[in-house]
Amino acid sequence: MTLKLYDTMARKKRPFVPANDKRVTMYVCGPTVYGYAHIGNARPVVVFDVLFRLLRHLYGEDHVVYARNVTDVDDKINLKAAEEGVEIGVITDRYLAAYLEDMDALGALRPTHQPKATDYIAEMVEMIAGLIRNGGAYEAEGHVLFDTQAASNYGALSGRSLDDMIAGARVEVAPYKRNPADFVLWKPSKPHEPRWPSPWGDGRPGWHSECSTMIEQVLGLPIDIHGGGIDLVFPHHENELAQASCAHHGAEFARFWLHNGFLDMDGEKMSKSLGNVIIPHDLLKRVPGEVLRWALLSAQYRQPLDWTESLIEQSRKALDRLYGALQDAAREVGTGRPGPEAGEGVEQVTYALLDDLNTPKALSGLFALSDALRAALTAGDKTAIAAARDDLVTAGAILGLIQKPAAEWFQGAADEGLKEKVEALLVQRAEARAAKDWPSADRIRTELDDLGVVVMDGPQGATWRMKEAV
Ligand code: AMP
Ligand code: ZN
Repeated sequence: MTLKLYDTMARKKRPFVPANDKRVTMYVCGPTVYGYAHIGNARPVVVFDVLFRLLRHLYGEDHVVYARNVTDVDDKINLKAAEEGVEIGVITDRYLAAYLEDMDALGALRPTHQPKATDYIAEMVEMIAGLIRNGGAYEAEGHVLFDTQAASNYGALSGRSLDDMIAGARVEVAPYKRNPADFVLWKPSKPHEPRWPSPWGDGRPGWHSECSTMIEQVLGLPIDIHGGGIDLVFPHHENELAQASCAHHGAEFARFWLHNGFLDMDGEKMSKSLGNVIIPHDLLKRVPGEVLRWALLSAQYRQPLDWTESLIEQSRKALDRLYGALQDAAREVGTGRPGPEAGEGVEQVTYALLDDLNTPKALSGLFALSDALRAALTAGDKTAIAAARDDLVTAGAILGLIQKPAAEWFQGAADEGLKEKVEALLVQRAEARAAKDWPSADRIRTELDDLGVVVMDGPQGATWRMKEAV
């Protein structure tokens, strides 16, 4: 079975064949670093991380190049820097570091390249100058604008008419624009704003120019996959595409366009402007990153995902169930690690992902593997237990899940002294229960509770975990 991906441009699923299977390229629009990312911003990160892992699985780790940019020049950054009375670099360094820390906690692999816009300003100036030379852009009052009339295919990606686009983009109808849909490639900076030299005066680039330039500079054209959230289709991706094709005389830019659906809360898109944001940076203090990752993958990436407290709880329970089976297996046959030998159950998980990243189906594939492991544990067949354990861990690796030792999942926050104490209390409790001494068993359970420990009785005996840190 081959990988099929829904291509926004074709408006259907298409078999994915890279231009060069020794160098598969993917670019995803990254964060504007002026504040903490919210959990909606984390959805594309986790979704495209699964795709990155799947591509590495299919084509080999060294044959996939993934770039995600950092927007470190932007009006919102300027505003924040002015508010704090610091240089923009202070703001962008601070929030980029937080972003990487949070996305690491969600189990996202670092992209191969993370180009910063401010490192490519000269290249952007060069691209814009080229557009002016070939009639795709014009200068007006210190600005450079892209001439949307000059792009024959403008609107092809978003499927919008020019009228829709003007309304949708809420573009400023500035007097110097030839057409209201024309967008800014370069704009002048006010005295206190960051500035770079250009043939049109000191200023800064528009957002869309960033990605087109960095895609070309970092990955080379055409790229195999261009990704981002569905809100980026228009105007951002439409404009990236227009200027890149115009700069390269219609040459292909991206072979597949992938867009994730929104993460919603109470039926509304989570967004900073609506003020309904949940910030992983805070949430991670009480919820493990792996739980958030599971929750983000619980819906297929193009579908809306409703973010609720109960989704977090279900995700935690799902991981408890899988790690619980792995913990019991570890007692019998030790811990496993992902291996090249994969059983049929692992293939089911891969197949689900090959079908346009059907992560809900892949997650239920993990449950099927953990049920198989439970069956082997019940049968007490050590060879079967080890094989089922390896399958579960191997399938989990493709999704970036269940890779830590089960003991760490359950007891990560406990120090050695506490662990010994808990284990001793559990032995006493088991003895009390065996002797039907219920008052003692209850007293021990309360003692464990006071230590911040939750006891989980399972088919292979009791396991325990630390209550979450609040
Ligand atoms: P921004 O910082 O707003 O440019 O967003 C960064 C990335 O997060 C983009 O790919 C957006 O499309 C995506 N994004 C923003 N809000 C949401 C949301 N509520 N659900 C899913 N993706 C989102
Ligand atoms: Zn972009």
